[in-house]
Amino acid sequence: MTARVLLLGGTGDALTIARTLGSQHVYSLAGLGRVPADLACAVRVGGFGGAQGLARFLADENIALVFDATHPYAAQISANAAQACEAARVPYWTLRRAPWQPQPGDDWRMVSGWTGVIEALAPFARPLFTLGREPLAHLDEVPEQQHWTIRCLDAHRGHARACVIDARGPFTPEGERALFSEARIDVVVSKNSGGAATEAKLAVAREMGLPVVMMRRPPLPHAQCEFVSTREAIAALAAYLQRSSNA
Ligand code: NAP
Repeated sequence: MTARVLLLGGTGDALTIARTLGSQHVYSLAGLGRVPADLACAVRVGGFGGAQGLARFLADENIALVFDATHPYAAQISANAAQACEAARVPYWTLRRAPWQPQPGDDWRMVSGWTGVIEALAPFARPLFTLGREPLAHLDEVPEQQHWTIRCLDAHRGHARACVIDARGPFTPEGERALFSEARIDVVVSKNSGGAATEAKLAVAREMGLPVVMMRRPPLPHAQCEFVSTREAIAALAAYLQRSSNA
């Protein structure tokens, strides 16, 4: 029988992998975004209850391999998955998009965590946040001299000194140029997610001479196999499943 895979997702890359999986495999989502209804594999939604809960799930569901294709800033689930795999003696594989690299002309200000972001933004007036929903929890802390533009997946009524745009990539250079000038953006705040879908903001910041406050990636656990491209990950997974069905 073919080995059963648990795919940890919540990214476009994970969904691409999930589309290649047959019905015995499981695709797991935290439950914050859309849940696809058109997959052949099983889809489960919600946390496992930490590393111990995940280890129990691996044993109860007879999982042979965990493939972690979560976002590179989703450090907690990755730490839990590595720990659970070690406890359950199940291989742990990862897909992490390669980070963007600064190009000539870029002015990246590297920071760690929310406090680092706020400190780096002190000299600016009109930041564009492209970090996800985290700034929404700090709307009452917008400094008096600032107006925030926050782009994330959540609809929100905004705030006296903040405007929230709910938009999902991919974003084009033309669209980013228009947004930057309409909102009079003077600094961009970003995670180093990598990939093409949200990269245009960096090119437009470079073109317009704007600095980018870039959050460093969190430390992530090592894996037995680490992939940086979806294509490579899908090929390796298919080869693994083929080997396991021959064994
Ligand atoms: P996180 O801090 O690493 O995880 C928080 C908790 O959410 C985990 O401890 C786990 O709960 C649960 N969880 C996370 N991913 C899960 C999954 N795929 N299946 C089942 N449970 C999951 O994660 P986060 O930063 O809040 O991100 C949540 C999800 O959004 C991730 O799956 C990630 O791929 C996706 N995402 C995150 C970002 C980002 O910037 N962080 C961006 C795009 C997409 P238990 O401990 O109860 O198991």
